[in-house]
Amino acid sequence: HRSQAVAHAHEPAVTRDGVAIAVAANVSSVEDAVAAFAAGADLAGLVRTEFLFLDRDRAPSVDEQVATYRRLAEAMGGRRITLRTLDVGGDKPLRYAPGPPERNPFLGVRGLRHSLAHPALFRDQLEAIVRVARETPVSVMFPMVTSLEELLAARRVLHEADPPAGLEVGIMVEVPAAALKAGTFQRHVDFVSLGTNDLTQYTLAAERGNPAVPADGLDPAVLRLIDQVCRSVGVPVAVCGELASDEVAVPLLTALGVRELSVTPSAVPTVKEAVRAAGGESVAWMLELPDAAAVRRGLEGRPATGR
Ligand code: PEP
Ligand code: MG
Repeated sequence: HRSQAVAHAHEPAVTRDGVAIAVAANVSSVEDAVAAFAAGADLAGLVRTEFLFLDRDRAPSVDEQVATYRRLAEAMGGRRITLRTLDVGGDKPLRYAPGPPERNPFLGVRGLRHSLAHPALFRDQLEAIVRVARETPVSVMFPMVTSLEELLAARRVLHEADPPAGLEVGIMVEVPAAALKAGTFQRHVDFVSLGTNDLTQYTLAAERGNPAVPADGLDPAVLRLIDQVCRSVGVPVAVCGELASDEVAVPLLTALGVRELSVTPSAVPTVKEAVRAAGGESVAWMLELPDAAAVRRGLEGRPATGR
């Protein structure tokens, strides 16, 4: 199973009914990008740029950021890299850009909220991204967007950096409010990427990583939000949360309309195989099930033909 997947890892992934799915990688370092390219990733669907910013006393300069983003693009063989702007705050504080003390950091000044509260830091990052986007295919993506107003504020800062036409702009949809309002972003983005880790946490009121409140992205409440985004957003939809790496979830996500799966590098070959086995399922009934366990049973019980 695994060796067959690896043998075809550098070929495109197309479902049985002919839908091409980009299988991308999530990367948090240049080494991850090297591994992702070797594993057959079609692009880097999520670069967690925090790695450049954490555990230091001052922010990286624009030149340092440009050098690192360039190395990421080179490691990916010149394939598209999706640079997510800084996703810190709350649980991941920066010494040089502190936020207010917060009792509930996951509900506080994190993601794009943090960037908008630290304009100099944000401007520098966007300037570095724009410089690299003039040389190689780049997308930029804003995390934790909740309202159109925030996106428009971010776009204004980006505009001041004079972005080239080829720079694609997207948002992460990882707050339920953004999923429910997906259609309002349509005219202002080239793509959206579902962050199912946070979307699951916020939908199920279950902190990620807290073993006392385990949460599964296959919960029908989360799936209904994904369905709602695919139906209403009008631009290509990716998934970059852990759910995309779950082979069992792949036929469901592609049937709902997801066209890119961004996964941990080592999962690229098996996710591509899962895409090739998918296609033609009717999945609407799964959104009516009571819980994630029932959805898993429904997906695992499908005959091996995938129908
Ligand atoms: C997510 O929330 O699903 C996601 C991909 O982003 P992160 O895990 O970095 O919060
Ligand atoms: Mg997230």
